[in-house]
Amino acid sequence: MIIVMQANVQAEQIAAVISKVESMGCETHLSSGESRTIIGVIGDSQPGPAEQFEMMPGVEKVLHVLHRFKLSSRDMHPTDTVVTVGGTHIGAGEPVIIAGPCSVESRSQLIETAHAVQEAGASILRGGAFKPRTSPYSFQGLGQAGLELLAEAGEATGLPIVTEALAPDQVPIVTEYADMIQVGARNMQNFPLLRAAGQSGFPVLLKRGMMSTYEEWLMAADYILSQNNPQVVLCERGIRGFETSTRFSTDINAVPAIQEMSHLPILIDPSHSTGKWQYVHAVARAGIAAGADGLIVEVHPKPEEALSDGAQSLKPEQFARLVQQVKALAGKTTLSEMGVL
Ligand code: PEP
Ligand code: MN
Repeated sequence: MIIVMQANVQAEQIAAVISKVESMGCETHLSSGESRTIIGVIGDSQPGPAEQFEMMPGVEKVLHVLHRFKLSSRDMHPTDTVVTVGGTHIGAGEPVIIAGPCSVESRSQLIETAHAVQEAGASILRGGAFKPRTSPYSFQGLGQAGLELLAEAGEATGLPIVTEALAPDQVPIVTEYADMIQVGARNMQNFPLLRAAGQSGFPVLLKRGMMSTYEEWLMAADYILSQNNPQVVLCERGIRGFETSTRFSTDINAVPAIQEMSHLPILIDPSHSTGKWQYVHAVARAGIAAGADGLIVEVHPKPEEALSDGAQSLKPEQFARLVQQVKALAGKTTLSEMGVL
């Protein structure tokens, strides 16, 4: 942290800042220029909230040198993290495809989808049993019955399962049936849920909040990592802009930006970010071409009958085509590898 003092600062104001920093267990490095005095804060301990210094007489502003997120940052962990779910490694080079319905609706719907996505090349099965619906009148998911069906589908296909927990008290039951806990966009800053997911020791799929910055997202990841759980996968699922003809806007920038800032794997969700099945292939390819570690895609045998997110769900044969496209693109992240240079 760097504390920049005002131009007309008085000596006793500088002394007061230094003694506050020292009282917090940190050291100071003073730099007195012609017009400005700058106080560098050095030390491993937290110097306390920046606001406390900003409010002190004679202080102009406080700058952060290191990121506010720590455990998820590359400064802390320069090499890429690989997260293992069942036998699938996310972040190990090969794009991983997670697929399945938005919601678990029935045994036949789930088992049919699970077999179809497994045969097409998905390596993890998704499906919501507890659904975070904007309207309390919309289908809320089958709850425990949905989890039982997910476990059965996992058993039948050999695919590991990812499913969402909406609240800390759902974490134990979700981990009884699933291999990975999803924390949804609407819960990215549900701090008790992040801590509970961290404490479970299970891999966590952390979706980006629709209005969240990269910094907020990575600080949310730090809540999980700080519980001694290193297994966090990030997922860009679209952010809210001003466009209304698509559901959200896919922030492809997140792929290279997060890969620079963080060691955690990042997936793209082209289903929620577009809201339209017609756009899913193109945006999925964009994510893979940008270097994402994989995709999470919604698939439904009869999208027109889906109880949630039918408009953005691919039919199994459309999903199979997507897998072929991803395989053709995978690893070809430079223009010459793509044959266009
Ligand atoms: C989902 O995956 O079905 C879902 C609700 O996603 P999000 O939290 O990104 O909206
Ligand atoms: Mn959905």
